[in-house]
Amino acid sequence: MGIDDDIHDRQKRVAGWNQEKIAGAKVCLIGAGALGNEVAKNLLQLGVCQLTVVDFDTVVKANLNRCLFFTQSDAENKVLKAEALARAAKKLNLSAIVTPVIKNVETLDDKFFSDFDAVFGCLDNLGARLHVNANCYGKVALIDGGTRGFLGKLQVVQAPAACLECGVSKQDYGLLWKKYSCVGEMLDILDPKMPALPTTTSIIAGMQVNEFIKLILKTGTTLAGKYAFYNGLSGQTNVFTIEKRSNCPVH
Ligand SMILES: [Zn+2]
Repeated sequence: MGIDDDIHDRQKRVAGWNQEKIAGAKVCLIGAGALGNEVAKNLLQLGVCQLTVVDFDTVVKANLNRCLFFTQSDAENKVLKAEALARAAKKLNLSAIVTPVIKNVETLDDKFFSDFDAVFGCLDNLGARLHVNANCYGKVALIDGGTRGFLGKLQVVQAPAACLECGVSKQDYGLLWKKYSCVGEMLDILDPKMPALPTTTSIIAGMQVNEFIKLILKTGTTLAGKYAFYNGLSGQTNVFTIEKRSNCPVH
């Protein structure tokens, strides 16, 4: 096989690359929205073959500016997001098995999550995020991402480092955004109709999948116990260490 005949030839040229490890990883994607679409795209291009996608929502037209796997027809026919994503995503990696799970994530327990090598949190609400965090901690690495307009954040949760809940209580989450976003407005991430851009979505999803590569290949330094804030208005990314709370209910 020539060097231009192997889909993954160029990434295999990255120092320390192990395509078998990437291909063999069992990955769970929670949320088949904007971030979920972009994360799935990156994972399948990398050659991940086993992807489970959890979402119970249906496609609407307002998703289409940042969800490359969804179509007008999906929105008109109220197709389930996880099924639309699974069907379209398989075309990117013909050997991939993409399994849709049509469930509210808050009905899934730690047994479900512990079956995976990595879990991606691509959710738009704090309650679901904290549920996934609590059920993954100590069992599987969670790579959580979120966006609002030009702003994005991501965090890697991997025991024994701090978890999502250590740094983010229900009361102070909005304040954290205000503190680190520097846009001078209160950011309420509980609002499901948040401003959203395809650019910020791509950037945060790309950063999430980059963390996955490091976790699987055991290379570089992951954001375990840290979170990164990306501000697209300034172009800056800041990384903060999260103190592990001794009274955190998760551990
Ligand atoms: Zn914690």
